[in-house]
Amino acid sequence: MTNPLLESHDLPRFSAIRAEHIEPAIRQLIDENRLRLAALLDAGANSWKELVVPIEEMQHRLSRTWSPVGHMNGVVNSDELRAAYNACLPLLTAWHTDLAQNERLYRAYSQILEREGPSLTAAQRKLLENALRDFRLAGVGLPEDRKQRFKALMEQLATLQSKFDENVLDATNAWSHHVTAAAELAGLPAPIVERARAAAELRKLDGWLFSLDAPNYQAVMAHAEFEPLRRSLYEAWVTRASDQGSFANRWDNTTLMSQILTLRRELATLVGFPNYAEYSLATKMATSVAEVRGFLEQLAVRSRPVAQQEYETLTVFAGRELAAWDVAFFAERLKRQRFELSEEALRPYFPLPHVIAGLFRVAERLYGVRIVERQGFDTYHRDVRFYEIVNPDDSRRGGFYVDLYARTKKRGGAWMDECVGRKHLGADTALPVAYLVCNFMPPGANQPSLLTHSEVVTLFHEFGHGLHHMLTRVDYPSIAGINGVAWDAVELPSQFMENFAWRPEVLPLISAHVSTGEPLPQKELERLLGSRTYHAGMHTVRQLEFALFDLRIHSEAIESGIQILETLAEVRERVAVVKHPAFNRFPNSFQHIFSGGYAAGYYSYKWAEVLAADAFSAFEESGIFDAQVARRFLTAILEQGGSRDAMDAFVEFRGRKPQIEPLLKQLGLAA
Ligand SMILES: [Zn+2]
Repeated sequence: MTNPLLESHDLPRFSAIRAEHIEPAIRQLIDENRLRLAALLDAGANSWKELVVPIEEMQHRLSRTWSPVGHMNGVVNSDELRAAYNACLPLLTAWHTDLAQNERLYRAYSQILEREGPSLTAAQRKLLENALRDFRLAGVGLPEDRKQRFKALMEQLATLQSKFDENVLDATNAWSHHVTAAAELAGLPAPIVERARAAAELRKLDGWLFSLDAPNYQAVMAHAEFEPLRRSLYEAWVTRASDQGSFANRWDNTTLMSQILTLRRELATLVGFPNYAEYSLATKMATSVAEVRGFLEQLAVRSRPVAQQEYETLTVFAGRELAAWDVAFFAERLKRQRFELSEEALRPYFPLPHVIAGLFRVAERLYGVRIVERQGFDTYHRDVRFYEIVNPDDSRRGGFYVDLYARTKKRGGAWMDECVGRKHLGADTALPVAYLVCNFMPPGANQPSLLTHSEVVTLFHEFGHGLHHMLTRVDYPSIAGINGVAWDAVELPSQFMENFAWRPEVLPLISAHVSTGEPLPQKELERLLGSRTYHAGMHTVRQLEFALFDLRIHSEAIESGIQILETLAEVRERVAVVKHPAFNRFPNSFQHIFSGGYAAGYYSYKWAEVLAADAFSAFEESGIFDAQVARRFLTAILEQGGSRDAMDAFVEFRGRKPQIEPLLKQLGLAA
């Protein structure tokens, strides 16, 4: 049997990949890696060329083989894929942990750094330093039984985190709300109503059927005049995978959450940290829990009074106490009144194909590359597109898939991920390839998908991650693109890119009315820009609530579901302004920190926002398309990937350390 995962191609052969290919391919690669590693060490390989390069090579091959599996599990999930994916998780975790706990390898890397250090490049030294740090974080020097325990914990965590994700996806997919009275749809945007009608038809039902995907949820929260409809979706959303709501206890993540926290804590203490938060910070730009807490508190002091004021004004506007499912609705109405602006009304100005074209033009102008669509590539879904980034000399720089529409069996949210990492190890090279995934409303029968401006901002954000991955010039996979970048600096290129979606120079490039082709009129443009800081206080405290909650549950001894909820309640008491009902089980679907990479790292969004706003202020000072500033951003930050310290890179670009003022100014929170 030929296995498409084991064939070598520039791009994955998605259409040929079946669930039964997955485990055999991953087992075979890991076995080969183990044999090769042992052979290298037995032969006494202890130089950069003889040891580090082959290990980079084997890790690269494994990660590009695994990447399409993880991707498909996220975007075209099925029972078979899920089972195969889950069967591989412990294998991969065991391999990575064995590698990181390998004492002979650790000693060899230390020797290489010592002996060859002076003749190596800064990037090569950084790779070795990162690796040595990761050896220590995996407990390389521990006695055998404690090493085994560490490994077992890593494997259990991988399994539990995957289960956490599955529960959220299943709970989200299982829910729907059937509406038969047209009056209950009042206020909803036509495309949302149309989608709900089509969904009902598909199930041979009268009326309209609302599922719980992000476009539906957000539209109902912001626009549905019929309060019970809002309440119904709100309840379903905040009780997913919990002991509450219509599927109470069915896919409950409560026990998983406490298990995950307990295991993470044990893991951290095994390798000498007081708690998981400090362990997590060992690889980040921020140096300690105290520093992060101080940073968040500083933002809280600036934003909470503003948020309170905004909330009071909103309450007065609504003319009554606000329930949690009222906030977005009245906020939208007030915004409409204050700025004569409706996010929904602007959709026709942002047809997806035009936004994409404009976004590409911005990147092309900034970084001197070209972005070209390619046909005839292999894919897992007909909605997927593929593009290449081309250098001025016509050589290829990288490529990316875009998969932008919401559908069932696809994880919610938006993200960028690595398909292939850049590799340039002697003759054998690979160009970086990315996935860009969003959950926008699919196109209608006769018109393209129309975006709200905040969806446009999301697209810019993910493309910023993509550029970081694809424009890298680093040759070694483990520090190329986003690899090896401190997690709290990873959101710098993405949040930086968001700023362009808010510029009067850029809006005419990305807007064209779907029927008339005219760009966003000047008046609308001014209203939109004026609305940027609308409810910035409330948005900020919401992010602070997530970040402080995450930091606390990972630094304090939290062991039960009750303590998790109590901690959240305390954090909300301190920073939140919106009142949450008792049935709210937000943590149960907080994938960022329980199953994604943001554990004790949610603060990274705000941390990197400071970097991004400060970096962007350099563009504001000299013109947002200033060639020199863009060049410096490209060479100091984007091309460097994880090959250098994030702070050093920032200082090289900005000429000084980051300052918080540009962010406060951007949010309208400056004193
Ligand atoms: Zn991001």
